[in-house]
Amino acid sequence: MSYISKPYILFGGDFNPEQWDRQTLEKDLLLLKNAGVNTLTLPVFAWAKMEPEEGRYEFDWLDEILDRIEAYEMKYFLATPTCAQPAWMSKKYPEVLPVDIAGRKRTHGMRVFFCYNSPKYRERAAAIATVMAERYKFRKGLSGWHVANEYGTYCYCENCQKRFRQWLVERYGTINSLNEHWHTTFWGRQVYSFDEVMLPTELNDDYRFNPTVQLDYMRFVTDSTIECYENEARILKKARPDLPVFTNISGYIKKLNQFKMVPHMDVAGWDNYPWPTDDPGFPAMKHDIMRAANGGKSYYVMEQSPNQQNWQPYNKIKRPGEVRRIAYQGLAHGSDSSMFFQMHQSIAGQEKFHGAIIGRNGDGNTRIYREISELGEELARLEDRFVGGRTQAEVGILFDWENWWALELTSGPTKDMDYLQEVFRYYKPLYDMNVPVDMVHYQDDLSKYKVLIAPMLYMMKDHIGEKLDQFVKDGGVLLATYMTGYADENDRCVFGAYPGPLRKALGLWVEETDALRPEEENTVCIGDRTLGICGFLCDLVQLETAKAEAVYGQDFYADRPVITSNKYGRGRAWYIASRLEYKVLKQLIKGLLKSRRVEPLFESEGQVEIAVRENKKGKTYFLINHGNETASVDLGAGYYGNLLNHHTMQGEIFIAAGDVLVLMPVHN
Ligand SMILES: [Zn+2]
Repeated sequence: MSYISKPYILFGGDFNPEQWDRQTLEKDLLLLKNAGVNTLTLPVFAWAKMEPEEGRYEFDWLDEILDRIEAYEMKYFLATPTCAQPAWMSKKYPEVLPVDIAGRKRTHGMRVFFCYNSPKYRERAAAIATVMAERYKFRKGLSGWHVANEYGTYCYCENCQKRFRQWLVERYGTINSLNEHWHTTFWGRQVYSFDEVMLPTELNDDYRFNPTVQLDYMRFVTDSTIECYENEARILKKARPDLPVFTNISGYIKKLNQFKMVPHMDVAGWDNYPWPTDDPGFPAMKHDIMRAANGGKSYYVMEQSPNQQNWQPYNKIKRPGEVRRIAYQGLAHGSDSSMFFQMHQSIAGQEKFHGAIIGRNGDGNTRIYREISELGEELARLEDRFVGGRTQAEVGILFDWENWWALELTSGPTKDMDYLQEVFRYYKPLYDMNVPVDMVHYQDDLSKYKVLIAPMLYMMKDHIGEKLDQFVKDGGVLLATYMTGYADENDRCVFGAYPGPLRKALGLWVEETDALRPEEENTVCIGDRTLGICGFLCDLVQLETAKAEAVYGQDFYADRPVITSNKYGRGRAWYIASRLEYKVLKQLIKGLLKSRRVEPLFESEGQVEIAVRENKKGKTYFLINHGNETASVDLGAGYYGNLLNHHTMQGEIFIAAGDVLVLMPVHN
């Protein structure tokens, strides 16, 4: 036997050998090998074991484990253990401990609980990364380097305050420029030197509630975290330039601007933990966001749970077939891996109730182990069929982290601002219609899309207004919404009337915005016909060149436009002044797709998700039935081979409840 030499789907996940004795480890490795596991990530949390006192390293135990993993012909990502510093370090160098938003110096504990700007933390992290790189760089099982784990701590210590001030000097140059960009004349908040700038903690309500300051602080945290990552990544890269270096992004993705962070990695890795209450389309959108963060290239799912989580209020066990669907959903949207946290369920600690491939009984006699083994066997059969495959989308949804932060930091017009969920409202009709979507950066080339949707494009920066204007002029179809074109990148409303730079393309301006309480709603009407309801926010617009496609049915602004369109250049720009209920929005988006001849991958009925990837071997279609009933898909006149059972299919086909098909076109 020898290691697989061609590309393959990575299957495995977090292995925490420091928790187990030799006998258990040997048994686990055999079980994992038999389940089809080919890649492990270790030793993520083992800093305390690897460096029991400063500068004294104990790696023999790890050498032995890597030998054993290699004996089973599995590969591994070696993780620097730097997300959980040893207790001696926190005691000896209290500067490594973070200060929280309440200004409290925290004590040792928890993972990812250090100051990302601490020089001592960075020195010790670089030191262990150097020793690991030298010791392990030529090991045959090494697939790549995994730096730390789930960055995302916000620190408010004195050192961070000092660094923040330096960051502001670099950004603004002079104090006058800072005052201007922060518009400190409001409430007389001018500062006369950078030394007077404080952190936005609970000790400083001026800053804590000032969205402009908060925004810069969040940018600063992202930049500091990138430095912290690169502190180790550059050492690992230098040791083996041919191997990928990356970290795993927490599933709670808001904390750090991943569009900024991921370009510093060789590949995006992220941790996918859908909630039982999530619409199946919601994690699909998060996958698409990660693909976008990775520049459209394939990425890695580094963690998902083989069964229940432990940190949700109600941790439901995964239903039979659910892990398989979650795994294929990732593969369908651009992941080249299906990795799990974790291999063997811990016997203690915060996550002892978190699911694992090997349960606490320690053998393979469980439903979950059997399901994982079947999945492993399927993925091995798929070999490199779609590895590296890209998704070609004709429809894009504009997405931006700073826009997200700014919308949710702002006070008014409603407290119910939830950017991610709002973006999902526009993603869902496309997902339901089996239309591939790219999540689009402001910096991307927009010309490759036929239809662009820009939900709540509040922050105008990087010339996005001008770019969208040109996109429409050149024949594109744009759908913009309430909360568009308000602020510049410093959250200043400098454009006069909204939607700012999009006023001409949309052919209207927004005079007022009414925020509805959750129990309130309005209606969307064409003439006497009511199409459905709307709510959340209701813009009162004044038309310039746009025409009303539908109007409000109620309140004093009844008969004023709620859906508008504007022919502009060779394209058309649509505006929706209020959140439309699903059926109305879907109908509208369907019309926009039709106007530019954007076709679904296939027509389907029931709760089927359909996605496609394409690499040198051709297209691979993924059909996932998330529903409890059989669903039908019309494959049309072409013939398709099911890669999971080698049956050939054509025309209308049926997918059993919860089942997955992986199809390739068969050319006669
Ligand atoms: Zn700090």
